[in-house]
Amino acid sequence: MTDITYRLAQKRNIVTALPGPRSAEVSARRQAAVAGGVSSSAPVYAADADGGVIVDIDGNSLIDLGSGIAVTSVGASHPGVAAAVAQQAARFTHTCFMITPYEGYVELAERLNAMTPGDHEKRTAFFNSGSEAVENAVKVARLATGRQAVVAFDHAYHGRTNMTMALTAKAMPYKTQFGPFAPEIYRMPASYPYRDGLTGEAAAKAAISRIETQIGAASLAAVIIEPIQGEGGFIVPAPGFLATIVDWCKANGVVFIADEVQTGFARTGSWFASDHEGIVPDIITMAKGIAGGMPLAAITGRADLLDAVHPGGLGGTYGGNPVACAAALATLDAMADMDLPARARAIEASVLPKLQALTDTGVIGDVRGRGGMLAIEIVKPGTSDPDPVLTKAIAAEAFKRGVILLTCGSYGNIIRLLPPLVISDELLDEGIAVLSDIVREMAAAR
Ligand SMILES: *Cc1c(COP(=O)(O)O)cnc(C)c1O
Repeated sequence: MTDITYRLAQKRNIVTALPGPRSAEVSARRQAAVAGGVSSSAPVYAADADGGVIVDIDGNSLIDLGSGIAVTSVGASHPGVAAAVAQQAARFTHTCFMITPYEGYVELAERLNAMTPGDHEKRTAFFNSGSEAVENAVKVARLATGRQAVVAFDHAYHGRTNMTMALTAKAMPYKTQFGPFAPEIYRMPASYPYRDGLTGEAAAKAAISRIETQIGAASLAAVIIEPIQGEGGFIVPAPGFLATIVDWCKANGVVFIADEVQTGFARTGSWFASDHEGIVPDIITMAKGIAGGMPLAAITGRADLLDAVHPGGLGGTYGGNPVACAAALATLDAMADMDLPARARAIEASVLPKLQALTDTGVIGDVRGRGGMLAIEIVKPGTSDPDPVLTKAIAAEAFKRGVILLTCGSYGNIIRLLPPLVISDELLDEGIAVLSDIVREMAAAR
């Protein structure tokens, strides 16, 4: 594991009330210029970011426990990634892989084919966003199987485009009044150990029985699931849940798609969350952490599935942009150099006990997650009733104190931790200490 060096001081340093005057000024301009439907949860305007800090235009240095939603795992300005981007941009920024291809795309495909779970023959295609990867995985599954139905699960999040909205479970804010939604999508119960109390096998059997009776395997192209559900609440399924579903898919000619857009690339302490479950998906969707912050997404899957599609059936103007591919190659090198899977496991080992120590406050129903993807579920004391109001208040107070914390969950009651995996131990400890103080203060004030 190489030592991590930082360009910016890795310190929380708050010099104005948050947001500060410069940020407030830009916010006012934003009101008049930017669509109201695009919102920001930590509205200080970024000037610089490195390692575990984001410095805003007022000179405040905030601790980043969100990584721009699990994207900047190697940091927001990793020198290797920045250099690869600059070098590639100086040569050519675009030709369109569908017209004049370039080697970086092929090399990155080779890397993903080698590092994703399973040693079968694989193929890869690149896109621009996680949603687009999911759309394309479903396109491939439908064409390759000649079937149309797709199963998604409770608490799922797969994106905001038309088909992926249909796959996503949560209405507000993702779906409300944005319909009609894409057809032939069916929702099944997931495994949510804290709330359903089921073993993985029992939860899987319940879903499978509903699939068989309500859809029928002969009509089912694909089952798509996040191996740890992200936006839905960092829900780690009970052991055996995913393996049972995968086995059933294999036995029934159904394509199993693991949506690893959030869980991929060292985030959970292995390269992919599927690795923990010992499952080998037919297709994996990837984005977020893949390219150190540059927009890039990928699907990697069985060669027979991806090669079933006619030439021209997959693609897009920008898919696998050369600058983004160069960034991804540098990101993967950096992750391996710094052994970020090990770093993610170390984050889990250090943070999880500190979160568990907070359960005596009575407002924490569950502590869970893997690697650098950890969460606390906030409930009303003595119950398992979600407390989204307290959850929001905790995140808002953390922001005021200079710690960027994200929330999530079907019930809006999850505080989720997604620190850059390169964050220093000191800064991470400080961020968790701030969170712990706030939880204790707010629980005591109830
Ligand atoms: C973020 C996310 C998506 C959508 O990715 P975008 O790049 O925002 O389109 C899809 N699936 C999962 C699991 C995600 O976390």
